[in-house]
Amino acid sequence: MTYIPSDRRYENMTYARCGNSGLKLSRICLGLWHNFGDVDALENSRSVVRRAFDLGITHFDLANNYGPPPGSAEQNFGRILKLDFQSHRDEMIISTKAGWDMWPGPYGNWGSRKYLIASLDQSLKRLGLDYVDIFYHHRPDSETPLEETMGALDQIIRSGKALYAGISQYSSEQTRKASEILKKMGHHLLVHQPRYNMFDRWIEGGLLNTLKEEGIGCVVFSPLAQGILTDKYLNGIPLDSRASKPWGYLKPENITPDIISKVKKLNKIAKDRNQSLAQMSIAWVLRNPVVTSALIGASRVEQIDAAVESLSNLHFDDHELKEIDSIVA
Ligand code: NDP
Repeated sequence: MTYIPSDRRYENMTYARCGNSGLKLSRICLGLWHNFGDVDALENSRSVVRRAFDLGITHFDLANNYGPPPGSAEQNFGRILKLDFQSHRDEMIISTKAGWDMWPGPYGNWGSRKYLIASLDQSLKRLGLDYVDIFYHHRPDSETPLEETMGALDQIIRSGKALYAGISQYSSEQTRKASEILKKMGHHLLVHQPRYNMFDRWIEGGLLNTLKEEGIGCVVFSPLAQGILTDKYLNGIPLDSRASKPWGYLKPENITPDIISKVKKLNKIAKDRNQSLAQMSIAWVLRNPVVTSALIGASRVEQIDAAVESLSNLHFDDHELKEIDSIVA
């Protein structure tokens, strides 16, 4: 059926400037790491993207290797774009990345110019696009000179195949160096994509300050710790959950009794705030003004609804924050 997006799609979403750039991003972004591969039902993936767009989510995040199999998330998203979004490309920010293992041999991984440029060409073919909005180096590579990796991003932007450059998983120090090199090449490093959630707060130890000082945006991934920071696993592992699927990195053994006892306490705080734990977890990462967006995953339409609803209560009082700190410490 022809998709006609809601004409109220920009009414409830909020948009934040990505660092010091001119680009605004929806405070909730949708990531396609899971639920968009060939192992997933395309019609469900399509409904999730439609719902996201209807609720004002403009930013869709991919990587060369998302699937499984690797590449299939880009291919499936390309199909969805063609079916539903051809006349809305200019309302969307589409990101992809390269940096992890993608094809055999020495040129399908890490951070060489050869890999990054070839990978983006492959991504564009799978997506059926002429350009992506943001191209990320997916993880630092200690063996490739940073000048070469940043030089590849420079070349990619100059060629028009991406509009902005991003990095992911770089330390605070690596971020400063990358930013400096790109500045010398005439570019502003748009965005960093680190993991951040109540159970993983490494970015508070310096990276957030660096991003603020350098005017770099911060799009944080896995704000729900892949679903652990929701009420989903409170009574065991549901059959249709990420942890029960054979692919992916979230395993039943990661969901320990100790973690669940913390999640139960957090769930109580969320209830007292009249939010679900998923909503509180998203609100918690967005409480810091340096964080541009929460990059969520969703296996169904209702999870998009819940995520967007979290924007209606982003305020935490000191007591709540202290209680959360003591639970997750
Ligand atoms: P989240 O922490 O948001 O986890 C998403 C999962 O949580 C969903 O797929 C769903 O799993 C569950 N969930 C979502 N909403 C609810 C809810 N309301 N109630 C109960 N369960 C819920 O993010 P992801 O780990 O998926 O990561 C998000 C994105 O971040 C990725 O798609 C990718 O774009 C990016 N990313 C980037 C990385 C990088 O290195 N740069 C690394 C990893 C991710 P279920 O299937 O169980 O329903």
